[in-house]
Amino acid sequence: MNKQGMLIVISGFSGVGKGTAAKKLVEKYGYSLSVSATTRAPRDGEVDGREYYFKTVEEFRNLIDYNGFIEYAQYVENYYGTPRAYVEQELALGHNVILEIEVDGALQIKEQYKDAILIFISAVSAKELKDRLTGRGTEEPEVIAKRMNRAKEEALSISNYEYFVINQDGRLEQCVDQIHAIVTAKRQDIRFWTDDIIEMQNELKTM
Ligand code: 5GP
Repeated sequence: MNKQGMLIVISGFSGVGKGTAAKKLVEKYGYSLSVSATTRAPRDGEVDGREYYFKTVEEFRNLIDYNGFIEYAQYVENYYGTPRAYVEQELALGHNVILEIEVDGALQIKEQYKDAILIFISAVSAKELKDRLTGRGTEEPEVIAKRMNRAKEEALSISNYEYFVINQDGRLEQCVDQIHAIVTAKRQDIRFWTDDIIEMQNELKTM
């Protein structure tokens, strides 16, 4: 049996609900969710170690120097990175791990983990995206404008992803189930079973 877990990268425009989708995948299907480190200030209700590990720029740079991240990137003036230890430990335990990260980080992951699954979540339209970001009420207009600009850049990277899933308002469950279906199908990819196939070929020779 193949024991290594799979790495699932979920990206999407700011405000698209990818964080909620990731949490739902944990609750409903038992995925492991990597908690990132960031230099961004906590939003109301965010808890250190739950939504993010909140770091100073100096602490973050130290972690980079000690090879503490499997990827990191800058996003609208702040750094974000995926701590190495948790991901490696969970994959070794055979758990499927979700990284909810932006496009530059996703590409770094693809380079290092060839079998990672890259999924891009989008809203139905650009207008709905802006409405959601504004309606969330957590960001200043200036930050919303920066995030919309970033969305324009990110839209150009979508072709690097293998899967595209739409999170329609009020249809979170459907989006989550689609992601799980993608992962389940990919798990049957013949490449994941190479060792087992060789074992079976050898066994058959002896029969
Ligand atoms: P937010 O500030 O809204 O929580 O996150 C901003 C962006 O940073 C989102 O697109 C989110 O997916 C991304 N992000 C969160 N954690 C990481 C990480 O560890 N690495 C990278 N590259 N991006 C991240």
